[in-house]
Amino acid sequence: MEQELALFQQLSKKLMQAEKQEPVLEPIEADQLFNTLDLRLGEEGENEEDFSRALEALVLNTPRTATHQFFNQLFGGRNGKAVLGDLLAVLLNNSMYTYKVAGPMVGVEKEIIRHMKNLLGYPATADGTIAPGGSMTNLMAMIMGRDAHNEKIKSDGVSQKMTLYTSNESHYSIPKNAAFMGVGRKQLRYVKSDKFGRMDVADLEAQIKADLEKGKQPFFVNATAGTTVMGAFDPIQEISAIAKKYNLWLHIDGAYCGAVLFSKKHKHLIKGAELADSFSMNAHKMLATPLTCSIIIAKNKKYLYDSFSNDADYLYQTDGDDYNLGKTSLQCGRRNDALKFWTLWKAVGTKGLGEMVDHQFHLAEVARQYVENHPDYTVYSYPESVGICFNYKDIPADELCNRLYEKGELMVGFGQFKDEQFVRLVTVNAGNEEEDIKAFFEKMEAFAEEEILETSS
Ligand SMILES: *Cc1c(COP(=O)(O)O)cnc(C)c1O
Repeated sequence: MEQELALFQQLSKKLMQAEKQEPVLEPIEADQLFNTLDLRLGEEGENEEDFSRALEALVLNTPRTATHQFFNQLFGGRNGKAVLGDLLAVLLNNSMYTYKVAGPMVGVEKEIIRHMKNLLGYPATADGTIAPGGSMTNLMAMIMGRDAHNEKIKSDGVSQKMTLYTSNESHYSIPKNAAFMGVGRKQLRYVKSDKFGRMDVADLEAQIKADLEKGKQPFFVNATAGTTVMGAFDPIQEISAIAKKYNLWLHIDGAYCGAVLFSKKHKHLIKGAELADSFSMNAHKMLATPLTCSIIIAKNKKYLYDSFSNDADYLYQTDGDDYNLGKTSLQCGRRNDALKFWTLWKAVGTKGLGEMVDHQFHLAEVARQYVENHPDYTVYSYPESVGICFNYKDIPADELCNRLYEKGELMVGFGQFKDEQFVRLVTVNAGNEEEDIKAFFEKMEAFAEEEILETSS
């Protein structure tokens, strides 16, 4: 192992140097990939030298998500403390299902959950777990909602037409999960959103009523805290009133921006979170842990056990359910995604996590003011969102983003809201400062002038 650790150190040094010199790579074209890099797996193993060379080429040619110029997704940057936690988790290689195998790591996860449920204002009955991504924590919430509606479904299967509700701006995992859980995509109702991208609560109630009249069984509503494109926050209190009235499970999908929970300044965006039945958040988005770290908290742990526990004599042999985390998990073997969030949290404190969130909103404000004050920009987003949506000089957003990518200039994506397509600049990159946002616009504008506007005129 010492040899591999030495190689690791060598490769990480090279990578970090390369990231400084060339923050964005010119991509290898997909159809050239296997001609460009040595990815072949052979009958015989490779000698150390060839092995290291192949590995180095692979590492140095992989898209660089940790640099200051990565704006493409809802994550980015590299937090040293969180990376340290994850590296140790790999080295230790525990599985989180039992106390016997995970030991104190169970406490690491439980402490995260305990603290988060307090911040949410959930009662002592609440409990949670970590799953591989926000799509999966949404699935867990939907399954709990299904089983809470009718506990027989676990044994008998779905036989009624059950309906569920989410806004048309919500994440695509909701329809996908509706299919997985046997309820069916067609039973999902898309609720209209207002001009900010927030759920229209009157439309929610109208659709529930229409379904009841047709003899359907509404059971679940998803509210999004930070919609994937606009970064909008659905009005939780109003949605909760409807959910209570019609007896629906209310889940808050905070995968993107649920981390406002940690910010004194921005927590009001999820006002009423304590009214929901479950809440999920990705620490790998706004909170800079390596992928993935997705936490779900259920207000009543009974539902977690009801939907996810299964007897297994060969596994659960000691220590009781509270410390055997497999009893509330979607999985059997489960990697330790808690430690990286714990090392970060331990190092910066709850206050520090809040400051990370505040900083991202501040960067978004810097970006918003920039585009609003420059006549060459059309702006589509609203305050209190960490995604700034705009177009520059009427250049089609897909063309601009794809050309920037192909030329290895900037990694930024485009999105769509209502009938408009635009560049979506996301300011959640953990290492970024104001000057990185300014540098983004400078680079993008220079590129647009030289490569797109010049050549087309
Ligand atoms: C990113 C995101 C998800 C999915 O999370 P993954 O970890 O990528 O599976 C779900 N909902 C929202 C609102 C998101 O932004």
